[in-house]
Amino acid sequence: MTDRLTFLRTPARALPRALPRPSLRVSLVLALSLVLLAAPGLVDAQTATTPDRARQLLSRIAHDSLEGRLTGSPGAMRAARIIAAEMERHGLEPLGDRGFFQTVPIHAGPPRTPGLPPRPLLAASMAAYDTIPAAQRRDAVNVVGLLRGTDPQLRDEYLIVGAHYDHIGMNAARAVDGDSIFNGADDDASGVVAMLETARQLREGGGAKRSILFVAFTGEENGMTGTTWFIRNPVRPLEQVVADVQIEMIARPDSLAGGPGKGWLTGFERSTMGELLAAAGVAVIPDPRPAQNFFARSDNYPFALLGIPAHTISSFGGHGDYHGVNDEVDAVDFAHFSTVINATARAVRVLADGAKPEWKPGGKPERR
Ligand SMILES: [Zn+2]
Repeated sequence: MTDRLTFLRTPARALPRALPRPSLRVSLVLALSLVLLAAPGLVDAQTATTPDRARQLLSRIAHDSLEGRLTGSPGAMRAARIIAAEMERHGLEPLGDRGFFQTVPIHAGPPRTPGLPPRPLLAASMAAYDTIPAAQRRDAVNVVGLLRGTDPQLRDEYLIVGAHYDHIGMNAARAVDGDSIFNGADDDASGVVAMLETARQLREGGGAKRSILFVAFTGEENGMTGTTWFIRNPVRPLEQVVADVQIEMIARPDSLAGGPGKGWLTGFERSTMGELLAAAGVAVIPDPRPAQNFFARSDNYPFALLGIPAHTISSFGGHGDYHGVNDEVDAVDFAHFSTVINATARAVRVLADGAKPEWKPGGKPERR
């Protein structure tokens, strides 16, 4: 970000210590900064996510060195450390059992095709995990940070903002031109970037009325195991969670949704969430591919089954690189991506400060 932003964030009390008698120049700069602070439009423009910033962060989370972020792999743990460091930099409070890390007891399943790692499975409990031979146990985590609410009446209510950082790893049998790493730049490093940038923007904007749990989930590609564990072992009582917003695959535009800069909400018609966002001027539209049942195909779904209004923001237009080695950073439209990130941050602000979303009659999904 710009130096101007750095200056705006410099605590004013640091100045007198350095300069006992502020010079005219410092006074002018201070006066100018107050003008900037008083003009929300300008400050918003400075805290917004730029295409360059989105590219930098996405390039780290979708980097080849993370080896496709398979749940339980060393590459996924490297991704988790990058995410935790970002959360710390943005001033979130760690809510895991190891700093920002919530341990998820993942172990290796039975052997598969030669060349493929065993499927990561979730143990029923930590006690069960402890009985599994050490060679089959894997280190896996959700990354959880809290932005505490600012309103005394609303701060005990929570909004979950999540994205899954795991992907499907490497597979030599499906290599293209020698590339066997499934980077998952769109799926779902893009959602993780949006989650982190939303945290940064809300923090820089003075926080929100309700508390927000920012979560990078593991295990989505293996049966939503990270979310399943999180729900069984919530870091805050789930009765106090008013809504869940997941962000999935927003790095490329969807022609059916109106092209660049547009995102959609899965299960739009099921609750009042979409209407609340639209009324606040956030440009999200109903999922244009209801037949694909994306509502049930992301980490929002286990929360929805619990009765928490839960939806996913996406712009996945069915591109052919889905779960392929070409889901790469180079294929991303960064102008589109950063626009949807900024819309996501506004959506989260609306939900954290405003009315609670409610299910519409028949909208809440039932367990089958
Ligand atoms: Zn996927």
